[in-house]
Amino acid sequence: MNSPVTYRGINQDDVSVNLSLAKKYGLSKDSVIMISSLHQQRQLIFDALESGQFLPSTRINNMLESIDESLQLQWFNRVDLKYYRFWDIPKCTCPKVDNSERYPYGNYIISESCKFHGNKN
Ligand SMILES: [Zn+2]
Repeated sequence: MNSPVTYRGINQDDVSVNLSLAKKYGLSKDSVIMISSLHQQRQLIFDALESGQFLPSTRINNMLESIDESLQLQWFNRVDLKYYRFWDIPKCTCPKVDNSERYPYGNYIISESCKFHGNKN
């Protein structure tokens, strides 16, 4: 029998993870801490892009893609890049509405001129 998941020492206010959802998925305390830290890393990169401290590039997209892969592994124990909402990256010029409508089925649209995802880089 599985023992109930507890997050002793973790307060909901201190983490960006919905703890009741995490419990439902049976995530360990380590996973909750890891997910919260990955959210912070992603937010730091998003903020740096918004402020112009980081410039859009495929390298930044690769970093964000790795963060998303790690998040998916923590949550679901597998990675499927169809679930990577790359168009949510600040300053990505790929079509947001069209891609949101296609989510999570894939066949996403890339803007050729996007500095993260296009081919004209
Ligand atoms: Zn893009």
